[in-house]
Amino acid sequence: MKNNKNLRTWLNNMGLQHPLVIAGPCSAESEAQVLNIARQLKNTDATVLRAGIWKPRTRPGNFEGVGEIGLKWMKKAKEETGLLTATEVANPNHVELALQNDIDILWIGARTTVSPFIVQEIAEALKGTDKIVLVKNPVNPDLALWLGAVERLYTSNIERLGVIHRGFSTYEKTKYRNNPEWQIPIDLQNQFPDLPLILDPSHIAGRRDIIFDLCQTALDLNFDGLMIETHHDPDNAWSDASQQITPKVLDQITIDLKIRKEESEALEYKNKLENLRTKIDVIDHKISEIIGKRMQIADDIGILKKNNNVAILQNKRWNEILGRMILEGKENNLSEEFVLKIYKAIHQESINHQKR
Ligand code: PEP
Ligand code: MN
Repeated sequence: MKNNKNLRTWLNNMGLQHPLVIAGPCSAESEAQVLNIARQLKNTDATVLRAGIWKPRTRPGNFEGVGEIGLKWMKKAKEETGLLTATEVANPNHVELALQNDIDILWIGARTTVSPFIVQEIAEALKGTDKIVLVKNPVNPDLALWLGAVERLYTSNIERLGVIHRGFSTYEKTKYRNNPEWQIPIDLQNQFPDLPLILDPSHIAGRRDIIFDLCQTALDLNFDGLMIETHHDPDNAWSDASQQITPKVLDQITIDLKIRKEESEALEYKNKLENLRTKIDVIDHKISEIIGKRMQIADDIGILKKNNNVAILQNKRWNEILGRMILEGKENNLSEEFVLKIYKAIHQESINHQKR
């Protein structure tokens, strides 16, 4: 993929500030609702109004969006407030209608990005458009599939491209609705530093109380923007009620976020340091999670040994592990001394667990 600085340049030319803030309801519900939210957002840092018009629902029987009429409400909101508009398109017909109604930003949803056939059809329907197109990550943690969708659009001569990180679904329930797996957007940034990257904390969180922290992590990782679901009456929203916040809360979040925009040598140093530290924090979190999982398995082995009357310490097995990890450590530039220290500590913790 070639450089894609265009979206950033375009945003700058539009006078849109960093980070780009896209806000608005999960779903457009009525003209009054769209206009009410847009009017309140006008007084915040948000410069783009989002609203889902066609809603991909996991199970049938839920509210599936108001359809085409919602595009008229968005147009009206844009005329009145000057906010740009953004909506999800999931097939060529949606694309055609969104373009007819002058939607400024079209995004491809997580359930669409997983399907190369549909992404290809959408890419062809969008051919040559100068609208901004944002691609959400696929629901499954697959960087190649995400990039594949971006490439299909790029090949269709859509140059104002960006991506949205909305987390990845997991079978196990965690504190997130969709696991952030920060390593994936970090890898994407390393490979394509010019591809604008936007965080959707709402679909990662699935709840309101961790939206701020997710946004701060993203800004520390140099994300370019935020897409935050915002509703005038979140509890009564027709979809994703538990994760939406009010325009007032959104305003407070953007006030409290540490946004590093000034340019000076000292600040540049600080920004870089903060960015690298956040990457370390992401990895430390993973290390702790993985060691925790290892201990759970050690617990299971402990129970198995106890039930079969077998001693906890098995020297032969332990020496095999050590030998293998010293070799793997070498491949990862880790000294033998370090690997021995770490593994002795891990082994001791496993034994302590098994003795419980
Ligand atoms: C949405 O933005 O409302 C949405 C449906 O998101 P996702 O595609 O990330 O699930
Ligand atoms: Mn939603």
